[in-house]
Amino acid sequence: MKIIRSPKAMTAWSDKLRREGVIIGFVPTMGALHDGHRALIRAARLRCDALVVSIFVNPTQFGPTEDLTKYPRPITKDRALCRAEAVDVCFEPTVAAMYPKGFQTGVTVPAIAQWWEGEARPHHFSGVATVVTKLFGIVRPELALFGQKDYQQAALVRRLVEDLNLGVEIVVRPTVREKDGLAMSSRNVYLSLEERVIAATLYKCLRAGVEAIRKGVTEVLAVQAAMTEIVKREPALMIDYLAVCDPLTLEPLSLVASRAVLLGAVRLGSVRLIDNLTVTAPSKRAWRRFGRR
Ligand code: AMP
Repeated sequence: MKIIRSPKAMTAWSDKLRREGVIIGFVPTMGALHDGHRALIRAARLRCDALVVSIFVNPTQFGPTEDLTKYPRPITKDRALCRAEAVDVCFEPTVAAMYPKGFQTGVTVPAIAQWWEGEARPHHFSGVATVVTKLFGIVRPELALFGQKDYQQAALVRRLVEDLNLGVEIVVRPTVREKDGLAMSSRNVYLSLEERVIAATLYKCLRAGVEAIRKGVTEVLAVQAAMTEIVKREPALMIDYLAVCDPLTLEPLSLVASRAVLLGAVRLGSVRLIDNLTVTAPSKRAWRRFGRR
């Protein structure tokens, strides 16, 4: 596996392969790799000839009070995981190489970014949109893989690629979870043993929302009540938002008529957990048929 640190060298490597007709797959990450990242890497491996994983803790997507300096950076372990998964290039640019003196351009996707994570973390999504655009420009992949775990981020990247004609196929893969349902995350290492047990409540709450919709509840307020009830059982959890939204625009719904995404963010001590589940409401026609039986 090659370790490339310079953006110029990365582009040169990609350009050479592209000229030879090689399909380049790309998995952008901030490192501290876990089985969720591993699943993305494996899915990418099946679809491309050459695979690039980037490890870059992007400072512009962190707020001033967030965990940029303490974000885990186990680079030796990360490289070992990449090597074991037959990654061809680990791209590890420095902050100075990504944002050299004079850097001033930013990318925003304002409609999607106005909601949920965007509201809770101002500037987060402009940081994400800008770095993803830069990484695509440097790595020049045919396809890039993202996790459903960060649903709003994936929706934003899809929009960005379409709006700016970036010509990268975006593949979104399911969230990989721990046995109790907790979505894997690099930030889970911050949880104490006690918090780790409580953390699975977010998944349980989203499941309760899904079950309510599957049983025919269409009023979002009722779905949210079912989710809130589960979270309230754990006094240590503080709700940031529990939302039922349009799966493409992320706008909040008041009625669930077809497909929806349930998004949740809670705080547990110093850790902020996010997760989501998608659901399709049973159609009225299906319910009528069911009723006749
Ligand atoms: P991060 O390193 O947290 O920026 O994540 C890099 C990529 O891995 C993003 O596309 C995430 O959505 C994805 N990812 C993170 N956690 C998971 C997970 N538990 N399951 C699937 N994908 C994930």
